[in-house]
Amino acid sequence: MVVTAAIPRQRLVDAQGRQIRKLRLSVTDRCNLRCTYCMPLDAAFMPTQTYLTPVEYATIVAELVELGIESVRLTGGEPLLRAEFPEIVAALAAVGVPELSLTTNGIRLIPFLPLLDRYGVRRLNISLDSLDPQTFAAISHGHHLETVKEAIATAADQGFQVKLNMVVMAGVNDHELVPMVEYAKALGVEVRFLELMRIGYACHLGSDRFVSAATMLEHLRQYYDLRPVPRPQDSTSFNFETACGAQIGFIASESQPFCGHCSRWRLSADGVLRACLFKEAGISLRGLSKAERYAAYGQVLGMKPSLRSAEVHHAMHQIGG
Ligand code: SAM
Ligand code: SF4
Repeated sequence: MVVTAAIPRQRLVDAQGRQIRKLRLSVTDRCNLRCTYCMPLDAAFMPTQTYLTPVEYATIVAELVELGIESVRLTGGEPLLRAEFPEIVAALAAVGVPELSLTTNGIRLIPFLPLLDRYGVRRLNISLDSLDPQTFAAISHGHHLETVKEAIATAADQGFQVKLNMVVMAGVNDHELVPMVEYAKALGVEVRFLELMRIGYACHLGSDRFVSAATMLEHLRQYYDLRPVPRPQDSTSFNFETACGAQIGFIASESQPFCGHCSRWRLSADGVLRACLFKEAGISLRGLSKAERYAAYGQVLGMKPSLRSAEVHHAMHQIGG
């Protein structure tokens, strides 16, 4: 008779009472853009042989769902570049993840909408840093503004729950807050303004590029009557609604870190599980037995810091943004 070691199956609650409920799951570190705050033009990537397979993702995610993960957001790099993206989504849907969502730059989104719809991936975060073609190209090193706007409009029209992510940078796109609110409102989607985080390649940008959420709010208050909208305690954003119904969120990870209520883990495309975006250390799950993986989950639970590091040099597209 084979005797298997007992595997602890308690929920993922750390010593500070933070329950891990959300997983950011990277399916590739590659991208078809080179946003100035994310990666250099000559970015180095992981060998594709090191990527987790659809079966490996499903195995790990099934275990984490059993331990209390309720929401899995597919990300990268640009997740829609991964050749096995359809197989990964199908495998995760089969596992029964309560909520599957996607973060994308939108360039390849339209042909994937039927697949996403079929597997219940109805919540899409789409990055859009500018409505001006030159500024969009200067930030992303790609001339894809019209493609991305078409993808946003198509997804919204098809009833997907779309949120736009705009990383706000002083002297680059910070004059576009109001146009972005108006653009999002016209499509009936939420816009979220992100503070520029000091992570990876963004550490090379001068601190004079940084715009705090407080500064953005002060600017927007000149144009709108902003009413706070309640959010879950572990939300990354704080939100407002204008009198005419525009939905605006702020992700202030620099000026108002939310570590005390953070409920997220991250799994990189090569299988490293991390407790925090701002902590390089993690544990590789590749090639581990089931018992070893459960032991690793326990270890990662103890790796979540109480406070945010000032900066981290590990690239965001490699950890999974
Ligand atoms: N490629 C997809 C995209 O751009 O939406 C998904 C991955 S990307 C790393 C996820 C999100 O992280 C994007 O909204 C991007 O703007 C944001 N991001 C990347 N680097 C950032 C930084 N240094 N500060 C703030 N946000 C950042
Ligand atoms: Fe690519 Fe997203 Fe990074 Fe831009 S932010 S370079 S789209 S991974």
